[in-house]
Amino acid sequence: MNNNIVVAIDGFSSCGKSTIAKALAKKLDFVYIDTGAMYRAVTLYFLRNEIDLTNQTQVETALSNIHITFKTKDGQANLFLNDEDVSEEIRQMHVASNVSKVAAIPAVRHAMVKQQQLMGKSINIIMDGRDIGTTVFPEAQVKLFMTADPKIRAERRYKELVVKQPDITMEEVFDNLALRDHDDTTRKESPLVQADDAIVLDNSYLTPDEQLAFALDKITPFIKA
Ligand code: C5P
Repeated sequence: MNNNIVVAIDGFSSCGKSTIAKALAKKLDFVYIDTGAMYRAVTLYFLRNEIDLTNQTQVETALSNIHITFKTKDGQANLFLNDEDVSEEIRQMHVASNVSKVAAIPAVRHAMVKQQQLMGKSINIIMDGRDIGTTVFPEAQVKLFMTADPKIRAERRYKELVVKQPDITMEEVFDNLALRDHDDTTRKESPLVQADDAIVLDNSYLTPDEQLAFALDKITPFIKA
């Protein structure tokens, strides 16, 4: 591993990983990489192009046509899929309902992990996802494993989604989270598991400031004066 610092944040869906990751990146001037957004972008491409997930040739051809980049716009890291800003669309339910199936495909994971490893090769990064501390950067200096009460997670996610999708129900959101947790923890290829050396952060009853202070306390010893 190079001298750059890698902070890996893994955990269940809608645990607030991206909120703390963004706050840390801003505070420490690290680059934030949202790997869930990358799997969501692949899913969107597959849906739009009606890719048959069981057809390996179709999947591999599609992957070779997908180019994902992050560009900062208005202070936000937006995701571009083949030069189209899809940051909004990848958050919608039609993508959320299909992403775990797509993310379980080995060829998809290999392509994304390779790109993520390149992105964090020589710069200080905060990367969040499901397999960062176990597969993408097993040598990350700091690994956080985030968890929270499933009902609290669903409430938080519902509040975010209902603004843009008023028809959505709490039950739909809760079921989607439960299904994604199940798919993510039981898949064969790099399932969501807590790395042996990860520090657990249960944020059910913690404010964003308390979470930030907790994480900074773990990271600052690695930052040279
Ligand atoms: O983090 P987010 O909820 O946006 O991730 C969407 C989905 O992408 C997850 O439910 C999971 O199936 C998949 N994912 C993954 N590995 C990662 C990040 C996300 O399998 N490193």
